[in-house]
Amino acid sequence: MAIHDKALDGKVALVTGGSRGIGRAVCVALAQRGAKVIVNFAGREDAARETAALCTAAGGQAVVAQFDVSDGPAVTEAIKTLGKDHGGLDILVNNAGVAINGLIMRFKDEQWDKVLDTNLAGAFHTARAAASLLLRAKDAGRIVNITSVVGEMGNGGQAAYAASKAGLIGLTMSLAKELASRGVTVNAVSPGFIETDMTAEHLPDAQRAKLIEGIPLGRIGASEDVANAVAFLAGPEASYITGQVIRVNGGMLM
Ligand code: NAP
Repeated sequence: MAIHDKALDGKVALVTGGSRGIGRAVCVALAQRGAKVIVNFAGREDAARETAALCTAAGGQAVVAQFDVSDGPAVTEAIKTLGKDHGGLDILVNNAGVAINGLIMRFKDEQWDKVLDTNLAGAFHTARAAASLLLRAKDAGRIVNITSVVGEMGNGGQAAYAASKAGLIGLTMSLAKELASRGVTVNAVSPGFIETDMTAEHLPDAQRAKLIEGIPLGRIGASEDVANAVAFLAGPEASYITGQVIRVNGGMLM
């Protein structure tokens, strides 16, 4: 793919969980389009630096920033500092996420809390901290939240994950209404099954073949498939789209 239209020239974008997988592809896509990207990570600084190098190689600019999205005060402090250091914030992509799977009868409180605190409270923390910066953004700020097909249709063994991702859709629509008066748009991208570290370990060959049978486009998605949708929603061509969930799932849910 070679889109280098620089539609995001001069924009500052923060991508949570930008160190790996979908987040990494989002960072590169935004950098290719001219944004200065802040690559957030939780623990994998090596991976975040690799992402930043890929952004630079794509002709863009990037810096890395460590914070745990589930830690509200740390997020507030980090975003305040980043806003000062980079002269504001135009785009926030809430991508950081974890999946802990297990049947409900054996699921522990700590597991539930970890998933909800990261996937749902994490997006609340960043949006709250970034809202005033996004409202002051020159041509209207953007928030893009990464939800999941599982949040739209449920999945046995993924109750906490599904609940967190369904909650993120409610958060998206509410923030879209709350921030619309200043032109800030808030949307969600809902990926289907995407090849990343998150999905790699749970997929024996037979299961993989069965999964592909349920995807009309006949393949598992790539991180870039999701990143392209995020970059579109973050750009000027999407200025009249808000409160929406854009599905990037090969047709597995219509
Ligand atoms: P991944 O490869 O496991 O990467 C997860 C990313 O989130 C890493 O960059 C990780 O940082 C970061 N992260 C985790 N906990 C964090 C925290 N507390 N604070 C800050 N960053 C944190 O996952 P992925 O598959 O790319 O998924 C990215 C997003 O897409 C997630 O929200 C996921 O739920 C969603 N999604 C994925 C799929 C799929 O099929 N893969 C489908 C639908 C939705 P470190 O590198 O520092 O650990």
